[in-house]
Amino acid sequence: MTFTATTLSLYPEMFPGPLGVSLAGRALAEGKWACNPVQIRDFATDKHRSVDDTPAGGGAGMVMRADVLARAVDHALAANPDVPVLAMTPRGTPLTQARVRQLAAGPGVTILCGRFEGIDERLFEGRPIEPVSIGDYILSGGEMGALVLLDACIRLLPGVMGAPDSGDDESFETGLLEYPHYTRPAEWEGRTIPEVLRSGDHARILAWRKASAETDTRLRRPDLWERHEGARVKSPSGAQRQKKER
Ligand code: SAH
Repeated sequence: MTFTATTLSLYPEMFPGPLGVSLAGRALAEGKWACNPVQIRDFATDKHRSVDDTPAGGGAGMVMRADVLARAVDHALAANPDVPVLAMTPRGTPLTQARVRQLAAGPGVTILCGRFEGIDERLFEGRPIEPVSIGDYILSGGEMGALVLLDACIRLLPGVMGAPDSGDDESFETGLLEYPHYTRPAEWEGRTIPEVLRSGDHARILAWRKASAETDTRLRRPDLWERHEGARVKSPSGAQRQKKER
């Protein structure tokens, strides 16, 4: 099954863009995913082919029209009814590795890319669209966000990543940041690699990596750490442990 990435955008020439090189580019050439960029303007019906209009209530900028976008979304849904439709918006649910994994396991993804001030809100009421944000900052358009989301999915597709297990202990897969990495030279500008990593003692290395991941997550991402600790306490084994301790 080929993972089909349909992007609805005013700049279809931005795809595959950077996803045409390296890992994703090779996977594209091998048919492991399909890139299907669609021009939203093709769904405009007036003689100026307009896709946007001034914001109701006033204010700066332009808003993308629900009627034009709905025709583009319907076209994508008719072609691929089982493929979820996402829209890039800073008002959406923040993208997570868990959601990326779900999407990568499915038939593909259709991504609506906003421009200007954003998308008429009624589109989200009138069509089954999942609003997605890639982070708490503002891009000039949804295309870069779509590229980010697609890159995260494509590397997980079967046969795309070199070593099959190289994604397993990646940051976020365990709810923690990954441990830090080192490679040769053994000494660089007077700095050495932690001794344990050169010991060949796999149990010690594993313990060091686990402890590093925990410490770094606690210090750098207290939000992730709190969620991780919360989940551990709530898990059945955690509950049992608490009971025993009483
Ligand atoms: N006025 C809007 C921002 C519009 S930016 C607001 O303040 O919420 C223009 C387009 O860029 C958006 O429609 C969206 O498609 C995309 N975009 C900007 N920031 C984004 C983000 N953090 N995540 C996903 N898409 C984003």
